[in-house]
Amino acid sequence: MGSPRLTEDELKLTLYAYTEIGRSKSFSDSHHQVQWLSEILNLLPIHSPDERPDNSGFRTPDGVASRVRAFKLIDENRNPRKLTSYRKVWNRYEDDWDALRADVRDLLSEYGVTVAESPEVLDDIVRRENLWEKMHQDGGPTEMEPSHLRDLGIYGGGAGIWRDMQLTEQLSSDGCGVTVSVLHTGQSYPDDLSEIELIYHYPNTDRAGRRDQNEIEATKNAKRLGVPIFVILYADESEKMRDVYLGRVIDWNDETSEFLIRYGADRQRLDAEASTTMVQPQKSFELTGNRSSDMRKQKARSGQSTFRFEVFQRYGPECAICSVDVKPMLEAAHVRDKQHNGSDDPRNGLVLCRNHHGAFDQGLFAIEPETHQISVAEGFTRNELGIESRTLSPVRNRPHQEALRWHWDEWTEERKS
Ligand SMILES: [Zn+2]
Repeated sequence: MGSPRLTEDELKLTLYAYTEIGRSKSFSDSHHQVQWLSEILNLLPIHSPDERPDNSGFRTPDGVASRVRAFKLIDENRNPRKLTSYRKVWNRYEDDWDALRADVRDLLSEYGVTVAESPEVLDDIVRRENLWEKMHQDGGPTEMEPSHLRDLGIYGGGAGIWRDMQLTEQLSSDGCGVTVSVLHTGQSYPDDLSEIELIYHYPNTDRAGRRDQNEIEATKNAKRLGVPIFVILYADESEKMRDVYLGRVIDWNDETSEFLIRYGADRQRLDAEASTTMVQPQKSFELTGNRSSDMRKQKARSGQSTFRFEVFQRYGPECAICSVDVKPMLEAAHVRDKQHNGSDDPRNGLVLCRNHHGAFDQGLFAIEPETHQISVAEGFTRNELGIESRTLSPVRNRPHQEALRWHWDEWTEERKS
């Protein structure tokens, strides 16, 4: 016997989870929003115990993920049948996601779940803001003495993630605390750091116990609770000094063990981004990017870390040509390249190993936009180029057809001349 059908309240929560994941993004059962939805549906007394055929198997992540995907089908106009109740909820909110968010908040509080920040969390946000002010008064926040940062409680450990367990342990129900700062010591990958973003790799050490895992959870908690964190970088001027920024954990990817953190002095923009993650309408695909007239910004290639993060999220950590899945060997490639003003939309990207990224940029092969067959330049064989199959590897998503079309036309044109 199956579980009872989703009630309207459950459908609202499911649609909310779908918009929180990010419309049209792919996700798995282990996505934190799916996990959240499963937990909350099991927790809420929407169905009485006798309506639940098997309490342990009720509203599992697997089950709720497929329900979230039903909204993806509707969103992508794939015209699914028999989703009348889903469509009704969708139609009510599709022009007003703020209303959905408000209704979900009310609904949860009706069931006795508080989603508003607790006073303790609000206190900690204020505490961090005061620290930020204090650093300015002390001549910072760039070129600060590490010992001074320790005195202020902004940094305390020997490791990259500092949680300040004494102050933050009680803020999260999992007991992992809330990360106060992350120290970025160097660049493991070229796109890890730009002027405004940082890809921060999960700690992977041999310290005793679950310290790595707990620090990862504490950093996730900063996003879950809407608490800002400090990003600490080695100062440009002197390795002995530290530059500090106020940042936000934007997202994470357990598959690649990475956080995307946005930082910088522009507080209002950061706060707006952190609070509107669910109300962004789906962007239409843009093949070309905004060519910035600000040379300084162009040089820093702002947006590259986000591009890499989103490309890996979309396609998974695996070369689309040879299936190599060793993370340090993989790169996020542009299909329409930056020299031709290609955009940083992840649909204009592909995950390729370093070899195949080079070969792709050199025009040694191209991808036919409709069939996804791989064509090899004259004078080479598939074997020589290490191309294992005739078509793109079965990664979970394909680049946008317009991007592949642009590259293909360019490539075939070049072959003719
Ligand atoms: Zn490859």
